[in-house]
Amino acid sequence: MSLSDRYHRVIDYMRVSVTDRCNLRCLYCMPRDSDPVVYKEILSYEEIARIVSVAANLGVRKIRLTGGEPLARKNIQYLIKRLADMEGIDELSLTTNGLLLMRYAEEIKEAGLNRVNISLDSMLPERYSEITGGGSLDQVLQGIERAHAAGLRPVKINVVVIRGVNDDEVEDFARLTLTTPYHVRFIEFMPGSTNLWTMERCIPVEEIKERIETIAPVTAVKERRHGPARYYRFAGAEGVIGFISAVSHHFCSDCNRLRLTADGTIRPCLFSGTAIDLKSAISLGASDKEIERLLRLSVAVKPEGHKINQGVYGDFIRSMSKIGG
Ligand code: SAM
Ligand code: SF4
Repeated sequence: MSLSDRYHRVIDYMRVSVTDRCNLRCLYCMPRDSDPVVYKEILSYEEIARIVSVAANLGVRKIRLTGGEPLARKNIQYLIKRLADMEGIDELSLTTNGLLLMRYAEEIKEAGLNRVNISLDSMLPERYSEITGGGSLDQVLQGIERAHAAGLRPVKINVVVIRGVNDDEVEDFARLTLTTPYHVRFIEFMPGSTNLWTMERCIPVEEIKERIETIAPVTAVKERRHGPARYYRFAGAEGVIGFISAVSHHFCSDCNRLRLTADGTIRPCLFSGTAIDLKSAISLGASDKEIERLLRLSVAVKPEGHKINQGVYGDFIRSMSKIGG
């Protein structure tokens, strides 16, 4: 069975936010005074596993756990094992700020996780701490090494580039691919709920690529189907450089994903306000057939795309940490 929407996109990927809580407060993601969803409103691991199992029966093959900070939710290894063992799920990955990887890398690999994406927006300790609201760069760097050593490969490092905040580090991040096997991916800064976003602060990936090419030429690397990143490599480099143009040349025409929020709604698009409440349906005793109907409904109403680059971003009102970036 497979799920496809009215624009003929096959939906086989679900991003699951396991918590909206986070041990950091990145200035572009989470308002520093934000309140988390109260605990009882968060989906339990059993509820997440049930929804994923229904989605897997409909053709969802890839799951990414995100948040908030997924490693900050207690016993995440349990959920990882449940999903890794689930029939139909071929790929299980996790997006993390990396702070807790030192502690958990081996355990989550052992539980069945395939890969991690680690967010890192500065390699300068003080700046890193300022951007993240107090995070320790050293802890993340050690976490990255531990993830690689544990076999969570390829390790992907996600850098959100913000003009005037960290764009002077683009070249240093690109050079990292000359000395490590990591995938360093530059992400365009997207609007959120922290008031920092302006079109001027968002640097288009073309500009980032031009800056990188002042170091040395890069050549295109074969693209993976459906991934939002376009990949390049310096000659002889082990690592690769990725560009995710979420704003300028959005990848909506290739979008293959649904998002399950920590409080149990299905969102067909990060940039649309549409959310279908699975948590309430489950609390009222919904059968798997009913969950299936709601999943199909969310695919049926998946919008064609966003129009941020035309100045339309009014629906994007919740922060990434709440939706699951
Ligand atoms: N806490 C984990 C982390 O930081 O990787 C997972 C959740 S975080 C919301 C997921 C991704 O969203 C991170 O890579 C983060 O950099 C990205 N993100 C958050 N707000 C963003 C924004 N306004 N523009 C672009 N990326 C953003
Ligand atoms: Fe937390 Fe990740 Fe958002 Fe930073 S980007 S505040 S680490 S959820």
